[in-house]
Amino acid sequence: MNHTPLVDTHAHLYSDVFQTDMADVVARARAHAAYVLLPNIDRESIEPLLALAAAHPDLCYPMMGLHPCYISDDYKQDLAYIERLLPTVPRLVAIGEAGTDLYWDKTKLAEQLHALEVQADWARNLGLPLVLHCRDSFLPTIELVEQMQDGRLRGVFHCFGGTVDDAKRLADAGFHIGIGGVVTYKKSDLPGVLPHVNPATLVLETDCPYLPPVPHRGQRNEPAYLPHIAQRVAEALGRTYADVAALTTANACRLFGLPLPVAANPATAAP
Ligand SMILES: [Zn+2]
Repeated sequence: MNHTPLVDTHAHLYSDVFQTDMADVVARARAHAAYVLLPNIDRESIEPLLALAAAHPDLCYPMMGLHPCYISDDYKQDLAYIERLLPTVPRLVAIGEAGTDLYWDKTKLAEQLHALEVQADWARNLGLPLVLHCRDSFLPTIELVEQMQDGRLRGVFHCFGGTVDDAKRLADAGFHIGIGGVVTYKKSDLPGVLPHVNPATLVLETDCPYLPPVPHRGQRNEPAYLPHIAQRVAEALGRTYADVAALTTANACRLFGLPLPVAANPATAAP
C-alpha cells in the first residue's frame, strides 16, 4: 500500500553536521518526505540555508527569522538585516524560527519578546505563517501572540510538548502544533494529549539534527526518521499510518501554501 509522503515542517538540514554526507541524507529524505522546511537560526545560518534550498528547490523550502537563543546585543541590526532580505528569498514559506527560550538564559526575555513581536508583524504583513520556538516560556509567548492576533496571524508552535489546554489555547490563537521525536520517548505525555487536540492542527517535524525519535536516540536526527514520529502519532490516535500521513501532510500543505504531493509514491513507506 502506498502512503502520502510526509512533510518535515522543521529541519535544520543545512547544519554543519550534514555537510559530509548531504547527498545521502537528501536521498533518504526524498524516500519519505515531499517537503523539508528549513527554519533559520541567525545571520550565519542564512547562507547555508539558502544554498541548500536552491540546490533542492522541489524538496527544501526556506523560512527566515531570528532564533531566540541567538538574540545578541546587536539583535536589532540582525532583524533589520533579515527584514531587508525577506523580499529576495525565493519560495519563502514562513517567518521563523522566532520566540522565547528561558531554558539557558533567563535574562533576555524582554529582548526575545521584542524580536518575536517584530517577526510576528512581518508574518502578518507578508501573509506568511510564523514558526514559534518556545521553551520554559509558554505564558509570555502565548500572551504576546494573542495580543497580536488581528485575524492575520497563524503558524506552528514547533516542538509542542504541552497539555491539552495549551494545545487548545494555541489552536484558538491560530496556531498548529509541531509534533517531533519527543512523542516517541517513554516519559513523554504527548501520546496521552494527542487524542484530545484538534486533528486539523497537527503537523510533523524532526527538528533535525536534534531530538531523534526512538529507535535512533543518541544519533544525529534526519528527515528520513520522520516515519517513526508518524507511526507513534498513529498509535496515539488509534488511526493508521496512512491516515496520519495524509492528515498531517494536508495540514502542512494548507498552512505553508504548498501543493499537495501525489499520494502514490512507491518510495514512501511506513517505518
Ligand atoms: Zn529549530
